[in-house]
Amino acid sequence: MRFTDLNSGREIGANCMLAEFGNVRLIVDCGLHPKLDGKKALPQLDKIQGAVDGVILTHCHLDHLGSLPVLLRQQPQARVYTSAANTLFVRRLLNNSIQVMKRQKEETGNQDYPLYVETDVERVENALTTVPLANPRTIGRGGEEVTFSFHLAGHVAGAVGCLFEHRRKKVFFTGDVHFQAQHTVAGANFPRQPVDTLVMECTRGATTTVPAQNRAREEKRLLAAINRIADQGGSILLPAFAFGRMQEILIFLQEAADAGDLADVPIFCSGLGMDLCDYLDAASKKTKQVKFSRQTLRDLGVLPLSRRYTPPGKNLPQAGIYLLSSGMLIEKTPAWRIAANILDHEENAVFFVGYCDPETPGGELIGLPPGGSFKFTGLDHTSTLRAEVDRFHLSGHADREELIDFARDLAPKDLILTHGDPPARAWMKETLTKLMPATRIHDPVPGEPLSL
Ligand SMILES: [Zn+2]
Ligand SMILES: [Zn+2]
Repeated sequence: MRFTDLNSGREIGANCMLAEFGNVRLIVDCGLHPKLDGKKALPQLDKIQGAVDGVILTHCHLDHLGSLPVLLRQQPQARVYTSAANTLFVRRLLNNSIQVMKRQKEETGNQDYPLYVETDVERVENALTTVPLANPRTIGRGGEEVTFSFHLAGHVAGAVGCLFEHRRKKVFFTGDVHFQAQHTVAGANFPRQPVDTLVMECTRGATTTVPAQNRAREEKRLLAAINRIADQGGSILLPAFAFGRMQEILIFLQEAADAGDLADVPIFCSGLGMDLCDYLDAASKKTKQVKFSRQTLRDLGVLPLSRRYTPPGKNLPQAGIYLLSSGMLIEKTPAWRIAANILDHEENAVFFVGYCDPETPGGELIGLPPGGSFKFTGLDHTSTLRAEVDRFHLSGHADREELIDFARDLAPKDLILTHGDPPARAWMKETLTKLMPATRIHDPVPGEPLSL
C-alpha cells in the first residue's frame, strides 16, 4: 500500500490523499485551502499520474470538497463514492464556492478565479454514487480488489469515516470526526476493531482538554451570555459556518426558546445558512444521517440579514442575535461586515462557537485585548474593541484524548496523521509515540509517497 498526502502543507489546508492499494488507486477527499488564493489553494493534483479508480468524499466542508470539480476535470472517468446525505449537499456548496471565487476575481483581480464553473460542478454531480452506511462496496482493477465501507463520523451532517480492506489488510480513515452527539448528527459510530493502518485527523491536537468545558455546560454558559447581552440592549454576533454549525446553533436556540429561557430578541441569519436549512431538512427526511427541520426557522421567526449594511463603526439599528457566516470572520463575509458595527460599542458581544484558525480575522479578534484596534481592510475602518469577545467550546472535532483512545482501540501498525496544524501534529506524534510503542507514527511529507 502507498499513501501520498496531496495537501499543500502539513496543516489543515486542502485535504486530499492518494491511496494506492496494489494497482487500485483511490483519492480520499479533494479540498480547497481556506487561506490560500487562486491555484495555490488546490491540492497537489499534478502528483497524480494516470487514471484513478475512484474518489471517496467523507463530507462537504470545502477543505474536503472544494477542489473536486478540478480533480474530475482531470479524471472524468472517476466515480465519487459518498454518503446519501452528502450527495444532497455537494452541488449547493460547490455552486456557492463558484460565486465566492467570482467575487474574489472582481475584488483581487486574481485571474485564476473561478477555478471551476457550473459545468464542472455538473460533472461532479453526475459522478456521485451513494454508498449506504456499513455496506461494503468493491472497486477493482486488473483482478485486484479493494472493499470499503462508510461509518458515521459525527462531525457534520453527512460525514463518514471509511474502512478499506485489501488483501486481508485493513485501513481506516477517520475523516473529520466527533465522537459525541450534536443536535443535528449522532456521535461517530466507528468500528473499534484492530486495523493495520489508521489515517487520523488531529485538528485539536494542540488544544488542552478542559473537562469542565463539556458541551452541555458550554451551551448553558453561551445561553446565559446571550441573555445578559440581550437584556442590556446589545447585539450578539455569533459567527458560524453556514453548513452544519449554523443549524446546530439554531436548534440550540430553539430548545432554549421552547423552554422559555431565551431573551425575546430578533434573530438574523445570512442567506446561505438559511438556504442550507432546506438541504439539511431534505437530508433529514431522506436519510437517518441528519436531524433537522426547517420548521426551526419559522418557530424562531428568523429574519434574513438586510442587504443594506449600516456604515462601519455605527451601531446596528436593531439589536438582536446575528447568526452569520463565516465562523472564522473571513473578510467580506456577512459576519465580518456586521462585526464592523458591533466591535466599537460596549453593549455588544461577539461569541465564537466553533474552531477558529489563529491566522484568520476571527483568530486575531480572539487574541485582541480590550481597547485594541481591529482593522477592516477594504472598509476603510478601524474599530476600537469595546464589545465583549468570548469563545465557547462547541467544536465539531474530537478532543485529543478521544482520538488517542480511538487509536489505542484500533492498535494499528502504522498511524498517519492528517488534518492538523504543525503544533497539533507535533503533540499527537510525541504523545502517540510514548503511548503506542508498537505503532509507527507518521507525519507525512506532503507530496511524498509513504509505502507501507
Ligand atoms: Zn470538516
Ligand atoms: Zn476539515
